[in-house]
Amino acid sequence: MENPKRTLEPRPVTFRCEWCGAESTEMRMPGPTPRYHTECKQPAQNSIAASRMRDMRQRKADQNPFAPKRPRGRPPGSIKNQAT
Ligand SMILES: [Zn+2]
Repeated sequence: MENPKRTLEPRPVTFRCEWCGAESTEMRMPGPTPRYHTECKQPAQNSIAASRMRDMRQRKADQNPFAPKRPRGRPPGSIKNQAT
């Protein structure tokens, strides 16, 4: 097997878009399989960012001063010591 030059050339990659669910083949550079179509990537990323913001807002709303907290009575070093 000869491999004189490792050229990075776009090659057809078949994948299922997580945004629209359609399977398609696109010319892509070698690397991890794409998750979205070129045209689906932007709305998908916007959606991810929006849902992340929603999560953050939700988490803030859930913060209740009367909610149970982490178990107390453990010295701060004990967590680190558990690893050994
Ligand atoms: Zn798509």
